[in-house]
Amino acid sequence: SLIQQGLISNSPSIPTYAFSIPTLETFRRLRLRAPRLSVQAFLKAVCDTQNNIYHAELATPFAETLDVYLALLRLVDQQVAKTLKRDSPHWRIKNACPPCTYKLVDEPPLRHDILLAIDGGNSLKRFSNAGTASNNLTFNSDYFVSREEVDKFARKEKEAGSSKGKKGKGKGKAKKAKEPEGADDDGHLLSSCTERWKANADDALKKTFSCFEEAGVFVCLCRHGHVLAIADMVSSGELAKYPLAVLDKVNQALGPGKKLIAYDIGCTFKKT
Ligand SMILES: [Zn+2]
Repeated sequence: SLIQQGLISNSPSIPTYAFSIPTLETFRRLRLRAPRLSVQAFLKAVCDTQNNIYHAELATPFAETLDVYLALLRLVDQQVAKTLKRDSPHWRIKNACPPCTYKLVDEPPLRHDILLAIDGGNSLKRFSNAGTASNNLTFNSDYFVSREEVDKFARKEKEAGSSKGKKGKGKGKAKKAKEPEGADDDGHLLSSCTERWKANADDALKKTFSCFEEAGVFVCLCRHGHVLAIADMVSSGELAKYPLAVLDKVNQALGPGKKLIAYDIGCTFKKT
């Protein structure tokens, strides 16, 4: 078969095109480092090295074959994880960073078990007309928080309302939002910061251009920079549901414990 020759085709029944695995792997690696690299540019370079003329109709079969190759890689990864018993939904968060999450026997307790940082970034935008995947496809990931899971928190957030100033602990777990020094004693400092910061605006005001399907991502990192959980920000600004959903996933995995969480709008988030 083709795969025994180191080739993958875009069609299982009538293969017209086949690409070698090293070519596909080279493109995959290149795109991890340079996400803007297009299939067309890559194929042109490959054709140049082989003294061939690039034909535009090569691009679609290559993109399809790349999908097949990535699916194969995911299947292999899943099987390896299963064999190593690393396929539980929380394995990745629990083991992403050994210095943060690996506990020694009789380790003296720390003031905080783990230091986390959360924030949303708006660089990873995607236009809504940039193509969509079929609704039947689900991408399983052990650190991406799905849109459905995020939306569960949207309702809770509405119930809490824009009750600014009302102190209600939405998720009564051992969480601590970082505050500016002295803010507790000096309410003035806290309120002026709260009003000025853009990310701190009322959720209703956090709108983005409607042309974007994805407005960015919301991540939770440990202090060594390992991503513990990530959520897409879908057609919206940095709403409270994203930190709630991301922290809920981390809390589910790591269990209760003293977590020190740094967040640039921690003062308002504490109230949510
Ligand atoms: Zn860490």
